[in-house]
Amino acid sequence: MVYFDAHCHLMEDDVFLRAQKRGVTSFIVNTTRPEEWEKVADLNKRLTGIYFCAGVHPWFVEKLPADWENQMSAFLEKYPLAMIGEIGLDKTRPFFDKQLSVFEKCLKLADRYNRRIHIHCVKAWDELIEILIQYHGIKTLFHRFSGDEFIIQKLKIFNPYFSILNGRYAPIIPDNRLLVETDSPDGLKTPSAIPALVEALELDVNYLNQTFRDFLDEP
Ligand SMILES: [Zn+2]
Repeated sequence: MVYFDAHCHLMEDDVFLRAQKRGVTSFIVNTTRPEEWEKVADLNKRLTGIYFCAGVHPWFVEKLPADWENQMSAFLEKYPLAMIGEIGLDKTRPFFDKQLSVFEKCLKLADRYNRRIHIHCVKAWDELIEILIQYHGIKTLFHRFSGDEFIIQKLKIFNPYFSILNGRYAPIIPDNRLLVETDSPDGLKTPSAIPALVEALELDVNYLNQTFRDFLDEP
């Protein structure tokens, strides 16, 4: 049995190696600020099963370097397989206007370079939809989804994927769009937790793996 972690962050190599011994072979590793981007690209060179992303997290927009957009653009050109994440909007955090402009710039880059995006959204669904609707066909994953059935209905136009780390939202997410994640090191601490999560939620591993490959457009 093999498993994946659809959303985690930069950690020591050992953490990924230990998870691989437990059958968690693939990881989508997000970043939150430009200093992390080359580090995650290096991780991808050292270990197998690392899918990597360049992100500017909404919690950290205030400290972004002025040229972050050029940096992201250069990174995406250098790494054709890099995705964009973690990006998004969080109304429980400050600098919401800056969050909006940073998020929109990320979507422009995703559109220009044809990259998948990994989204963090908390209590800002209307604003998110208003921006995202201007961009068509960006493959989108909502991580640690925290909306409700009504929001899932509204998001349907984007045909998005959702990753979860507990059972709370599993019943309202369409089966063929459901992925699992740990958000480690902050969420479930380590990707090794994935097999137990899948078992606790009584999810079909083969089906999950197929959904993961669909998201990545892998055969
Ligand atoms: Zn995260």
